[in-house]
Amino acid sequence: MSRPASTWPRIIVHADMDAFYAAIEQHDRPELRGKPLLIGGDSPRSVVTTASYEARPFGVGSAMSMVVAKRKCPQALIIPPRMHRYAEVSRQIMEVFDTFSPRVEALSLDEAFLDMTGAERLFGTPLDMAAAIKWAVRERTGLCVSVGVAASKYVAKVASDVRKPDGLCVVEPQDTLNFLHPLPISRLWGVGKRGEEQLRALGLATIADVAAADPTWLRGVLGSMGDHIYRLAQGDDPRPVVPDREAQSIGAENTLDEDVRGAAAIRPHLMHAADRIAWRLRRGSLAAGGVRVKLKTNRFALHTRQVALRPPSQNAGDLLDAALALLEHFDLREPMRLVGLAAFDLRDLAAPVQGELFGQGKRQKQQQLDAALDKLRERFGKGTVKRGSDV
Ligand SMILES: [Mg+2]
Repeated sequence: MSRPASTWPRIIVHADMDAFYAAIEQHDRPELRGKPLLIGGDSPRSVVTTASYEARPFGVGSAMSMVVAKRKCPQALIIPPRMHRYAEVSRQIMEVFDTFSPRVEALSLDEAFLDMTGAERLFGTPLDMAAAIKWAVRERTGLCVSVGVAASKYVAKVASDVRKPDGLCVVEPQDTLNFLHPLPISRLWGVGKRGEEQLRALGLATIADVAAADPTWLRGVLGSMGDHIYRLAQGDDPRPVVPDREAQSIGAENTLDEDVRGAAAIRPHLMHAADRIAWRLRRGSLAAGGVRVKLKTNRFALHTRQVALRPPSQNAGDLLDAALALLEHFDLREPMRLVGLAAFDLRDLAAPVQGELFGQGKRQKQQQLDAALDKLRERFGKGTVKRGSDV
């Protein structure tokens, strides 16, 4: 069976589990199916981590304060999160993704990019690929994943979201602009609520409006954000899928719905980012030798500070401590619209190199063993010494 030559420069899949924590609770406890659930703590300072689809019509969603969510949806059941279980299911999903591509970039517990360029012979068309991934995830976990396929990360991510839940959306390369342009500007990556207001005030409501705007003018009014969204609106996003093990750094950042001011307000966002980064470090068997905090003011001024982490760590608490210490070196009087954290100087823990930080590496031990065996051979003649694995 021959297929037409691929018109896809790259095939990027974005897979994102539907209402992940809530779906796991409903899967594990059938009595919760069909009910509105809010996953999160029940204290005055708790936030909703996930709302089940039954709760969402009431206007509740993740990152909302639990107090507000309870007011909006009083009949919802509040379920304390079981992170251990969610991490277990996450491992299963990532294992499934790993069977489809060697290039998987996990963004969080329930979301990943897969670079499937060149995989047509194995898996068929991009539509076949998406369907196979959905089937395999359901087969393994009993859960639903929404999948978007496009020629870039940005478009694939939008595509996975537009038909949620149980979504499957393939954007052929030649349809990219037809797909993007009718969408509202909130679909532009990195534009938070505040950015959306700014764009609307400039008369830009859809992605088509941004694409048609003068890029020089956009840059003048929005700075580097102007360049960024102009390129996205053209469907231009050349960023590669980078598996964590090959990454130079692993970051997590949030453009906030509401600007935050001061260390106490920034802290929960850093904590969330530290958790996500630590999870990705562990997944890649990596430790961070440095931590960088990035803050963007509501006037789009970007500030970063970084520090070395000694010893290197993959622990969320260590990352957070370093990040909080860095906060003291920022001017925090201005409101911030973006809080980001990144781990850099990544060290491979699976194949450690020699050095005092992780003790003796495998390679060094091997060298010492080889040297010792050579000495014995010299003394007792060849054939005397065999390794356990040779016998
Ligand atoms: Mg999800």
